[in-house]
Amino acid sequence: MTHAAQAKAQYNLNKLHKRLRRGVGQAIADFNMIEEGDKIMVCLSGGKDSYTLLDILLNLQQSAPINFAIVAVNLDQKQPGFPADVLPAYLSGIGVDFQIVTEDTYSIVKDKIPEGKTTCSLCSRLRRGILYRTAKELGATKIALGHHRDDMLETLFLNMFYGGKMKSMPPKLVSDNGEHIVIRPLAYCKEKDIEKYAVAREFPIIPCNLCGSQDGLQRQVVKEMLQDWDKRFPGRIETMFQAMQNIVPSHMIDKTLFNFAGLTKDTELSERDTAFDKQAVPAIPVGLAGDDEAAAEQDTSPQIIALG
Ligand code: SF4
Repeated sequence: MTHAAQAKAQYNLNKLHKRLRRGVGQAIADFNMIEEGDKIMVCLSGGKDSYTLLDILLNLQQSAPINFAIVAVNLDQKQPGFPADVLPAYLSGIGVDFQIVTEDTYSIVKDKIPEGKTTCSLCSRLRRGILYRTAKELGATKIALGHHRDDMLETLFLNMFYGGKMKSMPPKLVSDNGEHIVIRPLAYCKEKDIEKYAVAREFPIIPCNLCGSQDGLQRQVVKEMLQDWDKRFPGRIETMFQAMQNIVPSHMIDKTLFNFAGLTKDTELSERDTAFDKQAVPAIPVGLAGDDEAAAEQDTSPQIIALG
């Protein structure tokens, strides 16, 4: 690589790092994810997302106005071919406190699930239980997961298409066993940025298909649908993500979220009904207008916007 190319690559990496750091910092602040004295257990799978999460959290820790501890945890599920030395070597190298938990859930899953059936549901249930137990043993106050903006959108569509619910992945919630606070500090980060960052930082990625189980087909289909929209309709992803943060219960039909039965002309409303007319929608998706990065990357010619 020439000197100029090296300088350009470093410049781009710095920009990417700043953007991710800003996204994580914003999510932490918006949802009060990390508090003074917290011990954050960062779940590390060896994939791009969790490496990025750990990297950015460690970086933020150095300049944060509060004190919090980080412990990285990886669960070695004994999948054939799992390179058990990769994560310990990486984690020792960066000097972070870490724990590798070894539990042969692979054999349990193979034993219990008939050949040809999807193993993910039992596998992830077992993994969850082990990670909750580990968090307790370590005295962790929060469990941090590497899900990002695109995971949240995919989950929203999966729940709408298959589950009949408008429900996504929350940035912060109590775990299903009621014992832990789960946080997703990458909630505002784009998968594309994380991908580029992981490549540039040369994280020693461990492939996620070691167990040989087929990928969740429905999730893959939704992912491809979103990627296709992203190419064809600039700003749509950003706009949908904004929509998830901008819910107007009076304009949905969930009786439990809005008291339609008790509605009077004096009820305080953020928006009213336009009665005979359908509501006008902006010609340019709001996510495109508000996202310089997306706007710069996309062709925003009027023709394309009209198609969107
Ligand atoms: S892909 Fe494999 S390791 Fe991952 S949840 Fe499914 S069965 Fe478990």
